[in-house]
Amino acid sequence: MTTYSGVGVTPGRVMGPVKIMPPAITAPPAGELLDGVDPAEAAAALKTAARAVQAELRERAGRASGDGKAVLEATALMAADPMLLKAAVKLIDAGASAQRAIWDAGDGVATMLLNLGGYMAERSHDVLDVRARIVAELRGVPAPGIPDWAEPFILVAEDLAPADTATLDPALVLALVTAGGGPQSHTAIIARSLGLPAVVAAAGVTELADGTVVYVDGAAGAILSTPGEEQAAAAAAWAVQASTLGSFDGTGRLADGTEIPLRANVGGAKDAVAAAAANAQGVGLLRTEFCFLGHDTEPGHEEQVAAYKGVFDAFPGQKVVVRTLDAGADKPLPFLTDATEPNPALGVRGYRTDLTTPGVLARQLAAIAAADAASQADVWVMAPMISTAAEAADFAAMCSAAGLPVPGVMVEVPSAALTARHLLDAVEFASIGTNDLTQYAMAADRQLGPLAALNDPWQPAVLALVKATVDGAAAQAAAGGTTAKPVGVCGEAAADPALAVVLAGLGVSSLSMTARAIPAVSAVLRTVTAAQARELAELAIGARGAVEARAAVRARLPLLAELGL
Ligand code: PEP
Ligand code: MG
Repeated sequence: MTTYSGVGVTPGRVMGPVKIMPPAITAPPAGELLDGVDPAEAAAALKTAARAVQAELRERAGRASGDGKAVLEATALMAADPMLLKAAVKLIDAGASAQRAIWDAGDGVATMLLNLGGYMAERSHDVLDVRARIVAELRGVPAPGIPDWAEPFILVAEDLAPADTATLDPALVLALVTAGGGPQSHTAIIARSLGLPAVVAAAGVTELADGTVVYVDGAAGAILSTPGEEQAAAAAAWAVQASTLGSFDGTGRLADGTEIPLRANVGGAKDAVAAAAANAQGVGLLRTEFCFLGHDTEPGHEEQVAAYKGVFDAFPGQKVVVRTLDAGADKPLPFLTDATEPNPALGVRGYRTDLTTPGVLARQLAAIAAADAASQADVWVMAPMISTAAEAADFAAMCSAAGLPVPGVMVEVPSAALTARHLLDAVEFASIGTNDLTQYAMAADRQLGPLAALNDPWQPAVLALVKATVDGAAAQAAAGGTTAKPVGVCGEAAADPALAVVLAGLGVSSLSMTARAIPAVSAVLRTVTAAQARELAELAIGARGAVEARAAVRARLPLLAELGL
């Protein structure tokens, strides 16, 4: 039995065969020629490959539903696109190899679609996907992307991009294991939102052969090959346990009745509807960039209004916190970010894009205001990656100009945590993004598997920054003789039930997380009083390191072991 260790992201114990996500298809060498192959034969091979790709995509579309079906149908159509094939055959006639010809023809068609803008520009991705599939077929290697299998499987990948999830069918994927990625990478965020048991940063795991049966423990961060009866029993017991947690009753509170609203992190209307059905107390983070991932051009006013209104309409009368576009680093948007930046996490991302591409933020605020006016939700708006009080004041002025009355800031940069008192003079609330706050406090890229241990929100330094933010809000209130402005947490830390207790103990006023995590967080919060939560927070913040902090707190929360969390 081989054991692979990683960082547990979502609890859950499952057993099943692995399917390895194939590596991306590399470009054929530039200028690769036919080299004696008959052009007619090369053209025929290309057409056969294109037909095979189309047939496979059609067959998958027939089995899929919803968004996944639409993506597959659009891609299948593109596989036999006469313009694409004609352009490739022309290049073959001029001496290019079949692989190089379809590669270059794909580039040409994609650029043309991109230049047309709007809906046509979106299709450029389908062309690039299709050309990679045709090249894979010509090479006789597996097609790129999430593998297709009729049986449920454990998906093993080097890492996943947010866009990969468009075709990830949660009914077929039992668990997600990646060799790379950190616990706060977007792979991890997506796994949590899908409720999939997941382990990241499990070095070496991609060496497993397709079809090997493994056991995954998402809480312990372990993957065992050739599991035995003990693991089979643990997986069966988990299936029963998972169904006993029950649903959330709509009020987050501690054992003494202290209320801590539990809100949802959403990426669009679909998530919001699911979050409302799960009784979330509104939305604590709408990641607006998720509505437009894959867009090459700025979304238009009407498109934006419709996307935001779809979320607001799921929560009439409840709070919805909208985050303005957070493009950059792991979430590039070509109309805002520069792909050639040497250090994107420290580059022009989040609110900073207003410096280099002025106008996009103001137009987004106008669209949010229009959606707000047409809905019943209580809309708050916050900017990501705010570093100074001056930026907070500028953002508040822009919100006011757009007619949005409740501006706020995300606290993701240590400087914002340490100067929260001044930031909160300018805005009405703060929401701590522990994912970025951790990567910047520890100087550890959140996407890197080898740095996962540093990238841990249990690090006492990160907890000290959370405390500094809450203390800053208290100082700001004391200076003005008012009550403290709300400070919530919307990073992944809020979805860890033990850490949620610590955050409550540090004085955080609300928590926002994937809706799937709310029942477990609510159940554990209800086992402690505010005084006990404060004691646990002191224990964690006073620990020597993340491992000690986590262990000390978990040992005092017996419900975690009972629920297998
Ligand atoms: C965060 O940084 O904690 C956060 C919530 O934002 P994102 O994960 O989208 O960067
Ligand atoms: Mg962030």
